[in-house]
Amino acid sequence: MAASPLTLAPRRAVDASVDHGIQAIVAGTATGSTCSTDLAATPWTFDTVPGYGPGASMGDVIPTGSPRQGELPAEYREASEDELHARIRAAKETLGDRVVVLGHFYQRDEVVRHADYVGDSFQLANAAKAHPEAEAIVFCGVHFMAETADLLSGPGQAVILPNLAAGCSMADMADIDQVEECWEQLEDVYGPLDEPDADGFLPVIPVTYMNSSAAIKGFVGRHGGIVCTSSNARTVLEWAFARGRRVLFFPDQHLGRNTAKAMGVPLERMPMWNPHRPLGGSSEQDLRDARVILWHGFCSVHRRFTVDQIDRARAEHPGVRVIVHPECPMPVVDAADEAGSTDVIRRAIVSATAPTTFAIGTEINLVQRLAAQHPQHTIFCLDPVVCPCSTMYRIHPGYLAWTLEELVAGRVVNRITVADEVAAPARVALERMLAAKPASATPARTA
Ligand code: SF4
Repeated sequence: MAASPLTLAPRRAVDASVDHGIQAIVAGTATGSTCSTDLAATPWTFDTVPGYGPGASMGDVIPTGSPRQGELPAEYREASEDELHARIRAAKETLGDRVVVLGHFYQRDEVVRHADYVGDSFQLANAAKAHPEAEAIVFCGVHFMAETADLLSGPGQAVILPNLAAGCSMADMADIDQVEECWEQLEDVYGPLDEPDADGFLPVIPVTYMNSSAAIKGFVGRHGGIVCTSSNARTVLEWAFARGRRVLFFPDQHLGRNTAKAMGVPLERMPMWNPHRPLGGSSEQDLRDARVILWHGFCSVHRRFTVDQIDRARAEHPGVRVIVHPECPMPVVDAADEAGSTDVIRRAIVSATAPTTFAIGTEINLVQRLAAQHPQHTIFCLDPVVCPCSTMYRIHPGYLAWTLEELVAGRVVNRITVADEVAAPARVALERMLAAKPASATPARTA
């Protein structure tokens, strides 16, 4: 998509709209949970100070000219849920085919009810691609998802993130500076990283999960690497092992570990890379022996699931079928009956013919929606403490009403644009993924 040139601004001061506690927890300098329901009701409480929001990464420099989330106008903050619902419907009706609204599986119901498509991040990016006639794509998800939609949509289309402060704590755990620094340190260990050995293998292939900034996808594209989703991580790792001696996998250590373990990679050949420590906290020998180097990142929602919860579910519901997301820690995945992406979880429930009890290890909004849609089954979340994706919750209906009514008035707000010099290599990394395996199907239209 056409974009203004990327000029990097200096690192910004602490942004009050961003939870910097996550970085401290990841760095090990603070303890605590990264899960919060504080944003559930009124996210604008957190958005009073204009800021980039977590965006590509809360540590990333701010591209000059990037839109910043300001305070939502009072008429939206003070409107009732019913009023916002009516205003969103009216604006969508006025805009017609000029706009497509996308809603992630983890999004709150008050927003999902207005989505033309509901799906995971990559399915939704494909849905955006399938609508070249739409002038605007309103992505009710988080920042990296809107960036991916911008990468895949047409040059005349504007991708809009209703609240710029809706980021992803996992994506924020690997910023481009940290990854570049890691790459330099690996070069010190392995020698030139772009020179294949006598057998034609590169020393290391970078693989990034879809849940990462466009800058990281661009890095991967520039260095012979590839993007993966939770659905195709195994296929992508096979692609990478066919080209390199080892893989650098980021940002989610759990998806990397669970996938590589299922492929037979021994745990001792999966050292961790903590970006806050020299050589990631591993020895040179461990890095030389490595098959997969795991970035020290995680999802604050999926990390909460435990083996104890599974034991309790089995004790209280004999015969329960436990399905968890591969972003869960390895012992949880090992203890579950099945592990798979949000779409795999959804399809398992849809295809169950006999009434079944399901205990699900993923975000609560999706679990509750599945339970409501399939009353013939008993479906519950493994985690008894309701834990939504708190950053996804920043897309309150008030923000959706505001962005749509601005469009009606002819104004595009909160446009997410990936700069050309980042977009080109990022698309290369995405295309490698598509060539490694056909993409997931575009989700069915909801309305
Ligand atoms: S559920 Fe986890 S990985 Fe997904 S957007 Fe939220 S924080 Fe990021």
